[in-house]
Amino acid sequence: MALKSYLLTPGPTPVPERIALAMAQPILHHRAPAFEKLFAQVREDLKWLFQTKQDVLVFLSSGTGAMEGAVTNFLRRGDKAIVVNGGKFGERWGKILKAYGVEPIELKVEWGRAVEPAQVAKALEQHPDAKAVYVQASESSTGVAHPVKEICALTRDRPNTLTVVDAISALGAFDLPMDAWGMDVLLSGSQKALMLPPGLAFAAASEKAWKMAETSDLPRFYFNWKKEREMQAKNQTNYTPAVSLIVGLAEVLRWLKEDGLEKTFRRHERMSLAARAAVTALGMKLYTDSPSMALTTVIAPEGIDTDKLVKVLRDRYGVTLVGGQDQAKGKIFRIAHLGYFDEFDICTAITAIERALADMGAKVELGKGVGAAMRSFAETA
Ligand SMILES: *Cc1c(COP(=O)(O)O)cnc(C)c1O
Repeated sequence: MALKSYLLTPGPTPVPERIALAMAQPILHHRAPAFEKLFAQVREDLKWLFQTKQDVLVFLSSGTGAMEGAVTNFLRRGDKAIVVNGGKFGERWGKILKAYGVEPIELKVEWGRAVEPAQVAKALEQHPDAKAVYVQASESSTGVAHPVKEICALTRDRPNTLTVVDAISALGAFDLPMDAWGMDVLLSGSQKALMLPPGLAFAAASEKAWKMAETSDLPRFYFNWKKEREMQAKNQTNYTPAVSLIVGLAEVLRWLKEDGLEKTFRRHERMSLAARAAVTALGMKLYTDSPSMALTTVIAPEGIDTDKLVKVLRDRYGVTLVGGQDQAKGKIFRIAHLGYFDEFDICTAITAIERALADMGAKVELGKGVGAAMRSFAETA
C-alpha cells in the first residue's frame, strides 16, 4: 500500500486546502442575510466564469441533474432533437431524451473522434424541425473536444433550434465563451475543473432558450429552471441549497478571478501538452486527434489490459486514474488534469505509469516519459 494517494480522474477531482478550509466553516442558514450576500457575489462571479450576461442557476445535484433540466425545460413531448453521441456522456443525452418522450436523432461518432460540423449541418437540413443539438464540449469517456463554436454557428440563426452544451468537464479548463459563441444552454458541475466536491450543478440559458421554455410541456419539479431563476434573482433558492459547497464555490471563484481565465486555461493546456509528450515518448498512442485540455486519453501498449493497469496504479502506487468503458474497456486509460493540478502532479502520474507498466512486463525505459513531460513544461513555461 502506498502512503499517499493521488487522484487524477475526470471527476471527482482534488479539492485544494484553501477551499476545504473555507467549507469547514459553521453552516450558514440559507434564508439569512449572510447567505444572501454570499450568493449574490457567487451569482455575479458565475456570470464571469460562464462569460455570459444571463443568470447562472445553481442546483444541488450531480451534473446529470443539469443535463436532465436542459431537456425538460425546453422541449415538448414528441419533439425531435439531435444528439452527438461519441461516448458515454453523448449516449446519456439520448437516454434522457427518450425518458421524456423526445425522439433523439443520434449522430454516431466513432469513439476518439470529434463530430464534423458538416455532419451536424446535414442532420439539421434533414431534420429542420429538430429543436436542439445536444453535445459535450469535452466528452470525458474518450477525452475528445467537440467543435462547439462551429455547431453554435449552425443553430445561431435558427430561431427554433438550440445548441445545448454539456461543459461539465470543460468549463474552467478551456475557453467556452457562452454569449460570444451563441450557446443556448451551458452546463457545468462542481466536481471537475471547479475543484469542489460533487454536489453542485450549474446551468445558464440564452434569451432564445428562455423563449422556448415558455411553450415546453415536459414534466419537471426540482429542476424547474424558470421558478429557480425567479428565486435565485432574489439571491435565494427554492429548496435548501448545499450551503457549504456554495461557500467553497465562492472561494473557488475568488481564486479563479485572482488568476484570471486566460492563465487558468493556459495552465490546463500546459498539463495537456506535457501529458501527451510523455505518453508519446513512451511509445504509446493518443486515443484522439481532437484532445480536450481536461484529460489525456491513451491507448495502452499491446498486451496491457488497462483495467489491470488501473488496479496496479491504485493498489501499489496510490495513483487513481481511470481506464476505458464499453468498447474502450481494457484498451485505454485516461489521465485527468482538470482543476487543481500543476506540473508535478503530471510528473507523479507519469512516473507511476512508467513503474506500473514495467511491473506488468511492458517495455518501458524508466524516466523517458517523465523526462519528456519535464522538457515540455520547460518549453511552455
Ligand atoms: C462528469 C460528467 C457529467 C456528469 O456526471 P455526474 O456523475 O452526473 O456528475 C456529464 N457530462 C460529462 C462530460 C462529464 O464529464
